[in-house]
Order: sequence, then C-alpha cells, then structure tokens
Amino acid sequence: MPRVAIIGGGPAGLIAAERLVAVDGQKVLIFDAMPSPGRKFLMAGKGGMNITHSEPLADFVGRYGSRQAVIGPLLERFGPQQLREWIHGLGIETFVGTSGRVFPTEMKAAPLLRAWLHRLRERGAQFHVRRRWLGWADDGALCFATPDGETRIAVDATILALGGGSWAKLGSDGAWVPLLAARGIPVAPLKPANCGFDVAWSAHFSERYAGQPVKPVVASVADRRQQGEFNITSGGIEGGLVYALSAPLRDILETTGYATLHLDLAPDRMRTRLATDLARPRGRDSLANHLRRRAGIEGVKAGLLRELLPPETLTAPDALAAAIKHLPLPVVATRPLDEAISTAGGVAFAALDENLMLRDLPGVFCAGEMLDWEAPTGGYLLTACFATGRAAGAGAQTWLASTG
Ligand SMILES: Cc1cc2nc3c(=O)[nH]c(=O)nc-3n(C[C@H](O)[C@H](O)[C@H](O)COP(=O)(O)OP(=O)(O)OC[C@H]3O[C@@H](n4cnc5c(N)ncnc54)[C@H](O)[C@@H]3O)c2cc1C
Repeated sequence: MPRVAIIGGGPAGLIAAERLVAVDGQKVLIFDAMPSPGRKFLMAGKGGMNITHSEPLADFVGRYGSRQAVIGPLLERFGPQQLREWIHGLGIETFVGTSGRVFPTEMKAAPLLRAWLHRLRERGAQFHVRRRWLGWADDGALCFATPDGETRIAVDATILALGGGSWAKLGSDGAWVPLLAARGIPVAPLKPANCGFDVAWSAHFSERYAGQPVKPVVASVADRRQQGEFNITSGGIEGGLVYALSAPLRDILETTGYATLHLDLAPDRMRTRLATDLARPRGRDSLANHLRRRAGIEGVKAGLLRELLPPETLTAPDALAAAIKHLPLPVVATRPLDEAISTAGGVAFAALDENLMLRDLPGVFCAGEMLDWEAPTGGYLLTACFATGRAAGAGAQTWLASTG
C-alpha cells in the first residue's frame, strides 16, 4: 500500500491530508513536532479567526503582490468561496463582517479544528505527534527525532507543510531551512511579515503612552497610504495599520538602513484650515489646550507631536499644521521574526513545478507558509495555506498514481 507522509499538522498539511485520505488504498501519515497538531491555527482563532475575505477574486489575488501569478491559479482551484463551502461541510457556519472579512460563526478555530481532526481520523489518517523531522537518511527515508530516540520511515511521497518562522513555541520555528538548503533547494531568507517595528522613543513618551491606540490616523510609506489604527508599545509600534504597511517599511529598512512612516493625525481636516485655526491667538491657553481646541489633537497624538517635532515647530502654525498632516515617524528595526504574525521568504516557487513538487526532489511537495509568498492579514494567509496545501495533496495524488 503506498504511504504518504505529511510533515506539519497546520492547515496546509491537514488540507493536503484531506485530499489524500479521499483515495482508497493508501496510507496517510501526519507527523508533527508538537504534542498536538494545529497549534498556530488555534492561536489564529484567539482574537477572532479571520479565515478568508469576501472581495471579488481578482482583488483577492492582488493581495499576493508579486506572487499573484503563482498563487492566483491555485486560488482558482481552491479559493475563498471553496474554502467557505468546505468549512460549511464540517458543520461550521461562516459570516461576512462589515469589512468583508469572513469568520466562522463562533469566531474561534477550536470547533473547526476538532471537527476536522475527527473527520480525518475517521477517514484513516494516522497522526504521529512529537515527531520532529530531521531530514533524509542516505537511502531517502525520513528521519525523525522522537521522545524515544531517532526513527526512520520510508514513504512513497512526502508533503512538507512546516510553516514559517514565527511563534516557535507553537511549532513553526523555521528549523527546516538548512535541511532543504543542504539538498540544494533555493530558500529565500525568512523575514518578519505583518510585524511591529522598533522606534527610539524617549523614556518619558514610552512610559506615558505604551499600550495606547493611535486612531483614527492615516499612515503612508512609499506609495502606500492607509487609514486605520495602531498601538504604541514600550519600544515601538504594532497593530493592524502597522502590519498592513509592514512589507514596504521592512523592505526600505533593509535596503537603506532607515525608514520612515508618515502619519496624518487629523485625516478629516485640511492642512490649510488647520493652519488658520492654529494661527488664532492662543491667549492664556496652554499648548495642549490650544491643540485640542483648534486641531482636535490630544492625548497620544499630542504626545507624538511633542516627541517627534522640534519645540519651535510646535509654536509655528503653518509648520505645525504641515506636521500634523505628514508627521515623520522614523522606525529603526523590525521586531524579531518570532513575534511576527507571518513570515515572508521561504521555498522559491522556481524550485517547484505546477503541482508544488520540488523539481530536484521528485515525490517531495511543499505547501503553506513555508513557500516564498506573503500577504496582509485579512484571511489571505490562511486561504493561501489552504490553496497550496490542497494543490500539494492533489499533486502527490497524481504523482502516486503515475509512479504506482
Ligand atoms: C497570532 C496569530 C494570529 C493569526 N491570525 C490569522 C488570521 O486571523 N487569519 C489568517 O489568515 N492567518 C492568521 N495567522 C496566520 C496563520 O495562522 C498561518 O499563516 C498558518 O497557520 C500557516 O499554516 P501552515 O500550515 O503553513 O503552517 P503552521 O500552521 O505554522 O503549521 C506548521 C506545522 O509544522 C510543524 N513543524 C514545523 N517544523 C517541524 C519539523 N521539523 N518536524 C515536524 N513538524 C514540524 C509545526 O509544529 C506546525 O504544527 C495568524 C498567526 C498568528 C501567529
């Protein structure tokens, strides 16, 4: 009986398994280094699991930027709509939020994962946890570290779905990179995506404002501009708006060594009007009161102006209005990869055929976040993991049929 190993029990590996257990007469073995599968998937469900997005497919595909040509065809086979239908098939309903984002009705991942693992086991998938893949033996067998020592398993096809390099405590530690690189597989360096940034705040600002949201605000970097909110941390910035702009900010930082996010702290007000209002006599008003009354700026926004502008600008209405509309916030570094929501970089698509099989390692397929793509939050991460996992499962099936 042909044996398929799926290494990595996250959404990409599990959906690949689902495709393979549907075929009679083959053994599907799922290995994971952790004591249970799907730990990061469960984490993704903590704050409300945004599983996909309801926007038109062409817009959806556009979110994958320079990788849309490779991810697009996979999404056409198993995209947002098929994913929703698949979830419904597990007895879990979904709803579309006001932003167009799609969530399971209960917002959580746990009921979905429970039903899914149950169905996979019922269909014959065998789970082997606490099995850390270490690479290949000389005879091609898969090597695993287990609590009882090292073990080797020979299989007919392998799907690697090992995840990215963030949240190592949930299993996705990127330790697979040297294993593939040693076999000559091109792997783009793993980098933080949807990540926070370090800012050199003064001790005073950090103590006073860490944990506070900045909203509403428009942030821009290069030609990207977006409205939303973000949070001040003790050493930097994080949150939705920062994550959305993190890819260009990270890339500029990497290329030039410095990068600046520009903030419009008063998105609803024109600069000229702000300048006129701020030029009105201040009388005995403090600067804080003047800013609040004339520009609607207070709290953390006022704190940002004091932190980032020279004192003379704070008293020059024209310059202050210009700064409120385009305040430069220099960032000094990305937060470490392990803290990021997702990972950019990974196995190069050029190393894979259209079935996601490694051209130089026939019978070995790759799927999920370990591939070299990135996308913003909004359900795009999970949807691409499902689409690539599904494609790798189908590819392995075709491979087994052709070699068996
Ligand atoms: C806090 C947080 C919130 C998120 N929220 C969302 C969201 O709302 N929507 C969204 O679309 N995405 C979200 N994501 C991203 C999403 O969770 C990931 O993109 C997705 O889980 C990646 O799936 P994967 O199957 O490729 O890898 P993973 O889910 O990372 O699974 C990889 C598996 O491989 C195993 N593994 C790794 N190395 C080995 C080895 N050597 N041997 C054996 N097993 C190994 C790991 O233990 C793990 O179980 C979130 C992520 C985080 C951290």
